[in-house]
Amino acid sequence: RYAYVNGSYIHHEEASVHIEDRGFQFGDSIYEVVYLHKGRLIDQDPHLDRMERSLGEIGMEMPMSRAAMKLIIQEMVRKNRLKTGLVYIQVTRGSSTRDFPFPKTYRPTVVMTARRMPVFDPKKALKAIKVKSVEDIRWGRCDIKTTQLLAAAFSKQIALDDGFDDAWMVDQEGFVTEGTSNNAWIVTKEGKLKTRKADHDILNGITRQCIIRLAKNKGMEISEEAFTIEEALNAKEAFVTSASACLKPVTQINDQTVGNGEVGLISSEIAQLYADFLEG
Ligand code: PLP
Repeated sequence: RYAYVNGSYIHHEEASVHIEDRGFQFGDSIYEVVYLHKGRLIDQDPHLDRMERSLGEIGMEMPMSRAAMKLIIQEMVRKNRLKTGLVYIQVTRGSSTRDFPFPKTYRPTVVMTARRMPVFDPKKALKAIKVKSVEDIRWGRCDIKTTQLLAAAFSKQIALDDGFDDAWMVDQEGFVTEGTSNNAWIVTKEGKLKTRKADHDILNGITRQCIIRLAKNKGMEISEEAFTIEEALNAKEAFVTSASACLKPVTQINDQTVGNGEVGLISSEIAQLYADFLEG
């Protein structure tokens, strides 16, 4: 396996960054994860657009041109002989003396890794998950894709320790924000899709945006609106979406099943729509 670090492709085990790197010290860094499906990078530009936006929100620029970034991504795919998997891209504010203020001049650290993954194929049974609701203890700018992920890791661990697969985080008003690394959806009794609107409280998933588009094209009704755990438990179906998981049905929340506890028809239909999109 190869990793990319600041201009060099090196063996993954030997790749490293400086101990004073602000990504390491403060989580002062931005990342993206792009899914590669049978050799095709899925939504590469939207992911790079979001990276540019995230960087902009913390006062940074893209560390290189879009074309250069794409070349390195492509080279990572080639060097790692990746057909289906994930490309991880991280840009930090570089290393400097440990101090909170953003340094006036800095040299960003750019890291990429690649990892194999199975092909997303909803024709095989979709893997359903059980989620536990936990208080959303993250910061107020969850729209920025930073590597400051302790609250998400902490919440996921609580869920795993209790025998669940993930956590659904809930804001102060009792509304679900999102999963620890995915967007949350429900299908109401009336067959309407619901997912929280993209504000500062969630990451606006590229998969989320894609599925909104695909479902609208199919004439499905979607409302970008927050829902509570109670609403989700009264819903017909629930699922999560992300670049790495694509779509996973949620069949249990806390100690109750969603709908009849089986993978729902609409979740399956949307998974198939997304799979068709992946095929191009
Ligand atoms: N929400 C959070 C907190 C995430 O970390 C992610 C992905 O990692 C998502 C949502 C889904 O975003 P995307 O579909 O762009 O992968």
